[in-house]
Amino acid sequence: MTTHKKPVVNRNAEVGEQAMIEAILEGSPEGIGVAVIRLDCGCRKMAAVDKDGEPASKIIMYRDQAESICPQCQKDNGDFMRVTEQFIYWATPEPAMTTKAAIEAKVLGMQPSA
Ligand SMILES: [Zn+2]
Repeated sequence: MTTHKKPVVNRNAEVGEQAMIEAILEGSPEGIGVAVIRLDCGCRKMAAVDKDGEPASKIIMYRDQAESICPQCQKDNGDFMRVTEQFIYWATPEPAMTTKAAIEAKVLGMQPSA
C-alpha cells in the first residue's frame, strides 16, 4: 500500500509556492483553496479561503529562499499597487466552476479601499 501523495497538477504555482500552499491548507481545515498574490519584489502573500470566500487563515507573507520578506514589504505590507499576479490555488477535489468563479470574484476582485 502506497501512501505517497499524488502529484498535484497546478496551473500556476511555482515550487516554493506549492510547498507553502500545502502547509497553509494543512493548517486550515476550513480552507478549500489558497489565494496567492505575487508582488513585484518577488515576495508572496497567501491566505486560505473557505467555501464562502472568507479568509480561512491569516495572511502569510514570505519570500523564496529568504529568512524574511524584503524591506519594501516590511514597510508597506505588500501594497496592492505592487501586485503582479494573483490566483487561487484550489485544493482537490476542486469546487464547482460557479463556486470557484464566485470566490475568485470575491477574493481577487477586491479593490483597495484607499
Ligand atoms: Zn517584498
